[in-house]
Amino acid sequence: MSDDNAVSRRQILRNASAGSAALLIATLAAQPAAAAMAQKAAGYQPTPKDGKRCDTCTFFKAPSSCAIVEGTIAPTGWCRFYNKKQ
Ligand code: SF4
Repeated sequence: MSDDNAVSRRQILRNASAGSAALLIATLAAQPAAAAMAQKAAGYQPTPKDGKRCDTCTFFKAPSSCAIVEGTIAPTGWCRFYNKKQ
């Protein structure tokens, strides 16, 4: 076997590896974001609890959503995963 063949095979393996990485990245990019939790499961309520409100929680996304609880989230709401912004 000549060195040219060895280089060619090496190049083919290198290209296949790069292709696999590209395929993996494309597959991961196509994955949906982690599903948010149902409001009921989170114990969500549209009113504050003990002065704690969604708009002071790290997970709140203005104007009316949450990173971990699905659906419309009121700035005045609360759930058991409340985590005060620092
Ligand atoms: S308290 Fe925080 S985690 Fe719970 S619904 Fe409101 S913003 Fe989301």
